[in-house]
Amino acid sequence: MTRILLTAVLFSTISFSASAQHLGCSTKEGGDNKTKINFHENSNDTTKPRGLVDKYFLWDEQSTLKVKFLSGSPELQSKIASYAKEWEQFAGVKFNFVKTGDADIRIFIGKGNGHNSFIGTVAKQIDPWEQTMNLDSADFGNNTTFMRSTTLHEFGHALGLLHEHSSPVSGIQWDKKFLYKEYAKIGWTEEDVDYQVLYTYNKSYTNGTKYDNKSIMHYPIMPGETVNKYVIDWNHNLSVGDKALIKDLYPFTGKRKNDVVRVNMHNFGGISMEGNEKRKGLLLYPKFDLKTGGKGGPVKMIFKFYDEEGYGFQDEDGKYQENGTVSTMRTVILPANKTIKYNQNGKKDFEFFLPFDQIPEAAFSQNMIVTFKITYLTGEGELKNLYVSAPLQFRYKKK
Ligand SMILES: [Zn+2]
Repeated sequence: MTRILLTAVLFSTISFSASAQHLGCSTKEGGDNKTKINFHENSNDTTKPRGLVDKYFLWDEQSTLKVKFLSGSPELQSKIASYAKEWEQFAGVKFNFVKTGDADIRIFIGKGNGHNSFIGTVAKQIDPWEQTMNLDSADFGNNTTFMRSTTLHEFGHALGLLHEHSSPVSGIQWDKKFLYKEYAKIGWTEEDVDYQVLYTYNKSYTNGTKYDNKSIMHYPIMPGETVNKYVIDWNHNLSVGDKALIKDLYPFTGKRKNDVVRVNMHNFGGISMEGNEKRKGLLLYPKFDLKTGGKGGPVKMIFKFYDEEGYGFQDEDGKYQENGTVSTMRTVILPANKTIKYNQNGKKDFEFFLPFDQIPEAAFSQNMIVTFKITYLTGEGELKNLYVSAPLQFRYKKK
């Protein structure tokens, strides 16, 4: 029996790292080759679109989130921190700005990165050395109004809010042709515009709220962008709707209403792997604690297997696979409001198995990569990646 401890693959050492472009308040992921790992399967601004909230990525109620600046002058940092804290007046969530150690939200202040943030707990899926929010000091200048509203907007994303203009009930009549032409000037393709601007969410994302065109989460709409001359100026303040929504999502006491199947990953201790010659396969033991949200339900936990370049092993027999890539998975019914330990304290109480014959023979003389993810199929038929691990590299030689 051989035991291997999987090691994280560093971004800089692999060719298929997500190349994020940052345009406006938007993060797009490049290199969209379906067979390759898409690291940030959840990274829609980081930026896709009060109303609108991705409840699957909300932090626990009354969380204190650690926030750390990775760059920027002390003056700028203290301004941004004070703007962000405005949210605390309306929500039971706190931002604790720390200088050292781990942080839930990590802010890079730079020039030319645009402004963007991962949505809520998606930030927990980002490698700890990477930022989860970008703020662009080149844009700020001495414009403290803009700096404040941008900070509020990005921290809105960090709390799980989406773009209000992407509301399925907005009724905005976009002028598609005009938008394609305008955005082409900054290098966006039609698909980019479809995804970043024209995309609308399923109705459940409105959280029962109405379209709020005063929301801090609404982009301005410039003359020409709609066919009916609908325009929206920059919103510089939290709207009445923003304040009401954030309080619903993060009540000062007790649990939020209408929670969804949600997981918060804690103490992720990697994955140990063993080859078992008798059973003719690989045994995988992911080590972590899972804190569940206010609703229970079935999730799938999936290991996907890739070659050292990051290309998925093609499935041959339809047995161990997800979307044609060799995978092994388990369905787990999660209870509500519990912390569950998997393979902790030296135990091996949660095993995954993959037969050797699912992996191409040649791969056993090379490095291989696995990712671990937890998915949930919503009532609206949308597959949510509740958690996606960093890619982990291993090598296994059969006897
Ligand atoms: Zn945004």
